[in-house]
Amino acid sequence: MYDVIVIGGSYAGMAAALILGRARRKVAVLDTGLRRNRFAEASHGLLGQDGMAPEAIAGNAKEQLLKYLTVAWIDGAAVSAEKTGEAFSVRLEGGDILSSKLLILAMGVRDELPDVPGLAERWGKSVFHCPYCHGYELDRGPLGVLACGEISMHHALLIPEWGPTTLFLNGAFEPGEEQLNQLRERGVKIERERVSEITGKAGVKLEDGRTIELAGLFVASRTTPSSPLAEELGCEIAESPLGLYVNTNDMKETSVNGVLACGDLARAAGNVTFAISDGALAGLSAHRSLIFGHT
Ligand SMILES: Cc1cc2nc3c(=O)[nH]c(=O)nc-3n(C[C@H](O)[C@H](O)[C@H](O)COP(=O)(O)OP(=O)(O)OC[C@H]3O[C@@H](n4cnc5c(N)ncnc54)[C@H](O)[C@@H]3O)c2cc1C
Repeated sequence: MYDVIVIGGSYAGMAAALILGRARRKVAVLDTGLRRNRFAEASHGLLGQDGMAPEAIAGNAKEQLLKYLTVAWIDGAAVSAEKTGEAFSVRLEGGDILSSKLLILAMGVRDELPDVPGLAERWGKSVFHCPYCHGYELDRGPLGVLACGEISMHHALLIPEWGPTTLFLNGAFEPGEEQLNQLRERGVKIERERVSEITGKAGVKLEDGRTIELAGLFVASRTTPSSPLAEELGCEIAESPLGLYVNTNDMKETSVNGVLACGDLARAAGNVTFAISDGALAGLSAHRSLIFGHT
């Protein structure tokens, strides 16, 4: 019996396991290795690791984590989890079952992109959702926002900080008078012609045959939890304009006793820094529960 099983061994999950390993608690980390930022060559904005490859940051963290003798690493998916009496049972894809006193869910989220040919192939390379992560490198070149609904107003007003911006409405919504004024004030160009394809580095090809060459294109992906485990355990799910996430309190406890959640899975919008911070908090919170019990 483990003290804690951590499902998801990326930034959030490893940060949680590190705290628990340092308290000499028995922890198992289950991981399928599909970090959300695996499409990008470099990760930006994490203090002390800015510009490093995502796999290098995670690889370094894993190497340090596995020096703690009470931490076990298992490559593979958790396919189901349930509470059996006071403990949790987690079934692995190979059929093995592990049990623990507490569960930490750190499975991250999946990004759904609008169905535009050429968009998905450029995700993390010249198509992004987060200007704080990748805007600086675009070097104040021409930028675009591909609208997926009114949510894209936020992007369209923000992105001019990083370069002259065109909002491609693509039939997703029509800005009202006030929104048009806001866009004008921020110097955003509006393109109403439908987008047929993304070509070259970040060329937006329109149905009328024109192609607008950009340094980078931003799009608000819709996020859903990477796995249905939290929902199956009965954890309360919340919805933000960007998608679904697991609801937690300030100590990263979900609505189900003994189940904590952290990282992108448990916040409306995330990045590596927040995932690490949330993971550390979840690890600490789980450790407190092992000693003092949980509500
Ligand atoms: C294209 C792109 C670029 C980005 N660039 C940056 C950047 O430059 N800087 C930055 O700060 N943030 C960036 N982000 C955001 C960053 O990727 C996330 O905030 C961060 O990865 C969240 O960490 P996490 O640990 O919560 O989840 P993730 O890193 O997504 O990890 C979840 C882990 O859980 C595993 N998993 C899922 N289901 C199971 C299961 N059933 N069993 C076992 N394991 C499972 C997955 O394989 C994965 O390893 C970027 C995101 C994208 C999409």
